[in-house]
Amino acid sequence: MADKPDIVVCDACPVLCRIREGRTGACDRYGNVEGALTRLDPVVMAQRTAEDQGKMVPFLSGAGDWDGNLVQPSESFLTGIGSGTTYPDYKPAPFIVSSRHQDVDMVTVVTEGIFSYCGLKLKIDTDRFIGPEQAAVRCEGEQVGHVTTAEYGSQMLALGGVRHLTGGSKKEGNVTCQMMLTLCNKGAVDLAIDEGASLTVQAGKSPVINGVREERMRVGCGSATIGMFAKQWHGLLDEVIVVDDHITGVLTEHQAGRFLGMTPAGIRVRGRRSTPGRYFQVAEPGTGWGGTDISDPLSIIERVDSKSAFPGLRLLMVSTTGEDAGYFVLDDDLTPVPAEMPEAVRLVVERIGENCEPALVSVLFMAGAGGSLRAGVTENPVRLTRSVKQSLTRVTCGGAPVYVWPGGGITIMTDVTRLPDNAFGYVPTPALVGPIEFTMTQQDYAALGGYTGDIRDLIEVTGEDKVQVTPWRPDNPWPFGDDGASLQATKKGEAS
Ligand code: SF4
Repeated sequence: MADKPDIVVCDACPVLCRIREGRTGACDRYGNVEGALTRLDPVVMAQRTAEDQGKMVPFLSGAGDWDGNLVQPSESFLTGIGSGTTYPDYKPAPFIVSSRHQDVDMVTVVTEGIFSYCGLKLKIDTDRFIGPEQAAVRCEGEQVGHVTTAEYGSQMLALGGVRHLTGGSKKEGNVTCQMMLTLCNKGAVDLAIDEGASLTVQAGKSPVINGVREERMRVGCGSATIGMFAKQWHGLLDEVIVVDDHITGVLTEHQAGRFLGMTPAGIRVRGRRSTPGRYFQVAEPGTGWGGTDISDPLSIIERVDSKSAFPGLRLLMVSTTGEDAGYFVLDDDLTPVPAEMPEAVRLVVERIGENCEPALVSVLFMAGAGGSLRAGVTENPVRLTRSVKQSLTRVTCGGAPVYVWPGGGITIMTDVTRLPDNAFGYVPTPALVGPIEFTMTQQDYAALGGYTGDIRDLIEVTGEDKVQVTPWRPDNPWPFGDDGASLQATKKGEAS
């Protein structure tokens, strides 16, 4: 590997860094230690020991430092974090480890994938307008993604992806890679959306939109809010209008009001009537009431019908988070006049807020593991794909569960908050480096053409390699199955 005595060539990614003794390569993951190419970080092993919960144990350097008695193989899972890469996987994965669980011999193939086909899906719990669908999302001025279809109570972003990593300028690729790396490692990133908002986003934290931290996720759309609270408003009010960018609800026209025997109060709101008591497009999207652009709720009232409305009519206008609310009483001219909100009404408004969940940012990492990475697992890559699809092989990222998309390939998606901290790295191609593990029975591993001659015992690995122990996250499903034999059981089930 060394073409000069003091230089080693790193072949862990296509950059092929030439590394002088005592120095590291471009990604800082590999270095030249006394003339040998060395993965500098320890490989991370997660353990299900109660006494380790909540604290990190310093890594041991292997080769004699490790007290093998500390390792309980049945309670240990070797993750891909720090394991190294073998791109383009012309040789077996860095770690192929055996362990025994409930009398079943298991194998975990452990590696770090180099993902240029990878992206992030961000779910931002807010109904505030952050930008038009398809608008460019920028980081440091570079486009790194776009606004995609909003979901229930949340705005969605699609970030990263191969087009921004490698299909644009070098700067666009590097900024995209660093943005993704920061978010995957649970850091905060500032983003700006064309014709939209500025955002600070971080996995598991509340979003900051135009400098204001979002506290509440809406309880539902305006129609849903009517449905939830109609009974509590009945008798206290003659009309309630729940302002929402999606569906604005009008209590007395709504099915929930009809069910309570209420008759339409004659207050007509703007917008397009969808079904009784449910109105679309009462205003433009914005950062005002209920994700609309309005700050004066009365501006969405088109007219008051004198045939139905009456002086003294009690009207509540409220947003879907309860953060904005106004109480009005119609005067003799049927004009809504602001009045002090009765205590009983205020309590129901507060209950809307109480029913809102905290607004959070969710970051899902999505990547394709169906390419050459598979060749590090088996000599016949398509068999790994089939084994995953048949649920014979369980895929995890740093021990975190993944969703495997249907269809071709092994396209995975995982919540970055369920991985240990700083689980991701990068290479300057640019691409993200992420841990990935494939766990199956030894029998299945042999059947899919795995490198059975390279299987090492977990105890052997901890004795020879730098290993860092971290507590297993108890909310992650144990990759070997709760009974240690679920994969075997699954196999039998498939066969029958
Ligand atoms: S960028 Fe990192 S992985 Fe790639 S060749 Fe250089 S040191 Fe090795």
